[in-house]
Amino acid sequence: MVDFATRFAPSPTGPLHLGHAFSAMLCHDMARANQGRFLLRMEDTDLQRSKPEWDALIRHDLTWLGLDWDGPVLRQSTQLTSYDTYLAQLAELDLIYPCSCSRADIRAALSAPQEGHPHEIYPGTCKSRPMADRKPDDALRLHLDRALSLLADDTPHFNETGKTHKGTHQIDPELARAQIGDVVLSRKGEDVVAYFLASAIDDAAQCITHVIRGEDLFDFTAIQVILLNLLNLPVPTYHHHRLIRDDQGKRLAKRDDARAISTYRDEGKSPLDIRKMVGL
Ligand code: GLU
Repeated sequence: MVDFATRFAPSPTGPLHLGHAFSAMLCHDMARANQGRFLLRMEDTDLQRSKPEWDALIRHDLTWLGLDWDGPVLRQSTQLTSYDTYLAQLAELDLIYPCSCSRADIRAALSAPQEGHPHEIYPGTCKSRPMADRKPDDALRLHLDRALSLLADDTPHFNETGKTHKGTHQIDPELARAQIGDVVLSRKGEDVVAYFLASAIDDAAQCITHVIRGEDLFDFTAIQVILLNLLNLPVPTYHHHRLIRDDQGKRLAKRDDARAISTYRDEGKSPLDIRKMVGL
């Protein structure tokens, strides 16, 4: 089998709409055109909003669309120990620190508006706190400066498995500091790992070679490349596709039930009609 694998990774928190169908069809078609694998992953780390009925409807919609996935579905709720293991590796490398700041604390500490940035850049209030000082409801943040110096350092660093940490020249450190900062990797109060860390770890676990997803997720790519390099995991090729928008030009969201695949199905549309609607 050719080494080519894509995945569709929906969160089972609502119905699939046209935008999801477009993404899933691209992943599926690319995999099949390359004699590769098309895998399905349910990103259900949000235990409150993820529901088995959405999980079932998503699988039903994909099957109806003719998108057959290979192997079992990977559910992130079954992978929590794996995320903890990788967080422990980052802790061992002294690359994470505990943070007790609330969102309001963070906003107050920011001196300049962060317009144009994908998220607020953390001002570093808790940056000097050691992991030994971690309280039960602290969040865990990446120490980006240390991470970048580790990656820039060409001397091999051996971890407990005896592997080296590869440097990466794909990341511009200045841009990373300005646009990423010390991101939260594990959230406060609930032991829930950040989306981009869980997703990157599982791309490696599922041996994904090509991540094909919407351009709304483009800003997460740099941090995922950094994390994968730090964790000594393979970095896939990323492709970000155009988004399907509504008549006002707004990106479709889960709440757009009118454009849910199940609604179109109930109205008598065919999978081919759906393909035409998204321009495939
Ligand atoms: N679970 C994410 C979503 O539903 C997609 C993650 C990804 O494709 O990397 O938006």
